[in-house]
Amino acid sequence: MNGLMMQQQLLISSLLVHAERHHGDQEIVSRRVEGDIHRCTFRDLAARSRRMANALASLGVAQSQRVATLAWNGHRHMELYYAVSGSGAVLHTLNPRLHADQVVWIAEHAEDQVLFFDLTFLPLVEAIAPRTTTIRHFVAMTDRAHMPAQSTVPGLLCYEDLIESGSERFAWPDLDENAASSLCYTSGTTGNPKGVLYSHRSTMLHTFAAALPDALNCSASDVILPVVPMFHVNAWGLPYVACMVGAKLVFPGPGLDGKALHELFEAEGVTVSAGVPTVWQGLLAHMENKGLGFRTMRRTIVGGSACPPAMIRTFQERFGVDVLHAWGMTELSPLGTVCSFKPRHESLSQEGRYAVQAKQGHAIFGIDMKIVGEDGGELQWDGKTSGDLLVRGPWIVSRYFRGEGDSPLVHSDGEDWFPTGDVATIDGDGYMQITDRSKDVIKSGGEWIGSIDLENIAMAHPQVAMAACIAAYHPRWDERPLLVVVKKPEQALSREELLAFYEGKIAKWWTPDDVVFVDAIPLGATGKMLKNRLRETFKAHTLPTA
Ligand code: AMP
Repeated sequence: MNGLMMQQQLLISSLLVHAERHHGDQEIVSRRVEGDIHRCTFRDLAARSRRMANALASLGVAQSQRVATLAWNGHRHMELYYAVSGSGAVLHTLNPRLHADQVVWIAEHAEDQVLFFDLTFLPLVEAIAPRTTTIRHFVAMTDRAHMPAQSTVPGLLCYEDLIESGSERFAWPDLDENAASSLCYTSGTTGNPKGVLYSHRSTMLHTFAAALPDALNCSASDVILPVVPMFHVNAWGLPYVACMVGAKLVFPGPGLDGKALHELFEAEGVTVSAGVPTVWQGLLAHMENKGLGFRTMRRTIVGGSACPPAMIRTFQERFGVDVLHAWGMTELSPLGTVCSFKPRHESLSQEGRYAVQAKQGHAIFGIDMKIVGEDGGELQWDGKTSGDLLVRGPWIVSRYFRGEGDSPLVHSDGEDWFPTGDVATIDGDGYMQITDRSKDVIKSGGEWIGSIDLENIAMAHPQVAMAACIAAYHPRWDERPLLVVVKKPEQALSREELLAFYEGKIAKWWTPDDVVFVDAIPLGATGKMLKNRLRETFKAHTLPTA
């Protein structure tokens, strides 16, 4: 017997409809690329998103087609979040920090039809436009007055003209909740970047779970400033959460340095923020230098890389801000665990509470996780035994976009699980702590650097016999690439010559920080380079940039 409740699809557009009807006056404040501070309300957001949905239709964007963005956090990007997904197309947030070659590869793989971009990225768009074959329209996210006087981008359109041209009347289509809504590529594993294709249903379930008190704990009384970019796993879902709960949103645009952020925090009464540790280092250093404090900030969500214990302590003791340490992945929409306290932690000493907060936390409802050993058997939750972290749940990837049939999932105890590539312990309270990573990637300031790409370039150098790229500790960026190289016999290749070989081949910030020359790189039985052995050997290596 079925229940007798209304059948309603879980759709992203419903968040916008709710925000307009129930929190219409709530503000969205954006520092824009044009240099101004822009203010609008959820009511304006809804009206402009409907206009943009009409404009997309007039550009010929059909359901399921990909519409790409190269943009900072701002109200126009938010409008596209709702206009594109709400109308049944797929919002593809491109990462502007990648090298032009990678952006072209990803845009081609995604078969993007339209590209919206902030003016900051005009040079990048001019570089990629002649090399993309599927993009039919390029739109500068600005008004007529700020349109570039000259540009090589073919048929460049103006965002505000499109908004003007579209009627405010638009009925959001009643889509299947399993329809694709947005797409984000990750280079979190080896090989080419992989597309994670979210659905309306996965996004909505993630939003419900993320907003809960023991998860991100967001309410209509909050003022949320997502520092985490909207091109990185949907700014951890905050643009959806804000509409669901009716929280004021503050978007920092391109101003991510400590001074710009602090000014915005204070001016707009921000209560909650979210970002990677590197961003907070900049903010904390600025505040300590200038002897500043926070007027309204209560809580910050830190994830993307492990939050250093000293940062948790500084936030708490100097600035009275609670740190909520969280772990997630692009493949998890992204939220997996958060480190909120259980009632029994209340009786712990401050030091005991800091020790808990250094962990990545407990699974939120909807996520199941376990750690397994080399034989695939589940390991105990004793806070000491570490193993490969596996997860399952309704907002976790099952296949990569156009993944040619390969499933990333592993079978364990009769169920399909997603192997995270992270190595972790889980304690008796269910608090997970990352102890290592089994995947060969480097995470610098919260952004991936593909070790394989760096190795391939080194291997293309005529004097290199073998090259391995590993993560080395860096006090500012957490990890930076270290290249371990075996030279061909009797070659006098220098560190500088090899590093110069990278120029123009990759984004500048991907260039390895150091090169060490060795006689041999340890190999496993199948000839694979044993990078964990190398990581162990160079654990104490001091980078010249540190
Ligand atoms: P991304 O897909 O770019 O969000 O990266 C996900 C990966 O970042 C995870 O698999 C971890 O390796 C790492 N990561 C994310 N959050 C944390 C955290 N709080 N502590 C340690 N590593 C993290």
